[in-house]
Amino acid sequence: MLRGLGLLAAGSALGLGVPHSATAAAEAAAGELAPRKSLAARKALRRLAEGNCRFVTGETSHPHQGVERRLKVAAGQRPFAQVFSCIDSRVPPEVVFDQGLGDLFVIRTGAQTLDELVQGSVDFGPLEYGTPLVVVMGHQRCGAVLEAVESLEHGTDLGPQLNRIVAALKPAYDAAMASGVPQDELVDATIRKQTALTVQALEADPRLAPLISIDNSPRAQHSRPYQCPPLHRTLRRAPRHPAGPLR
Ligand SMILES: [Zn+2]
Repeated sequence: MLRGLGLLAAGSALGLGVPHSATAAAEAAAGELAPRKSLAARKALRRLAEGNCRFVTGETSHPHQGVERRLKVAAGQRPFAQVFSCIDSRVPPEVVFDQGLGDLFVIRTGAQTLDELVQGSVDFGPLEYGTPLVVVMGHQRCGAVLEAVESLEHGTDLGPQLNRIVAALKPAYDAAMASGVPQDELVDATIRKQTALTVQALEADPRLAPLISIDNSPRAQHSRPYQCPPLHRTLRRAPRHPAGPLR
């Protein structure tokens, strides 16, 4: 779904190894872009998908993290994509997508909740730097959503600040409930709804909306999600014994 200079892709990443599903969703969204305008966005999405595959398969390359890169970006930045995601310590976008310094604008809030202040940060990359791709990424076992669902189900008072996050997640919870999912799938369904609702909110942003365009070309219509390479190398590298406790 998205836009002139590039796009706003929706990624619903479920899983701590996450992004197989995220990249698939994002790739599908990229198929809606206008041909010429979407080229940079498509390249950006492909780059994220490839980085995510390296992460998932344990083949990370940790690009752009050395002194040379640091010196280069000190003079200026031009990230190729922007990721709006959760604060969860297990899904930092630079790690999940195997990127480095100056590659991504990153905005993180609990369960990627959005308000006017955060909206300004989301607008920053596309409007000020022409960032061609925006990905909204949710993730499995989201602590913020778990807490919110618990609070909404049992009327738990989490205090005035956290209650704001609960209130922000209530539309997603209500939508998940209305979909009729089983109780044991309610949290995951709420995560997915929250990601989708966040994307919808960004699409409705009057500053981003003019940048969004739809690609109805045959190529876009027949695009396929990016597929990660086979996992055989990763399997050979798997440790023989479980790791010990963290110290
Ligand atoms: Zn989360």
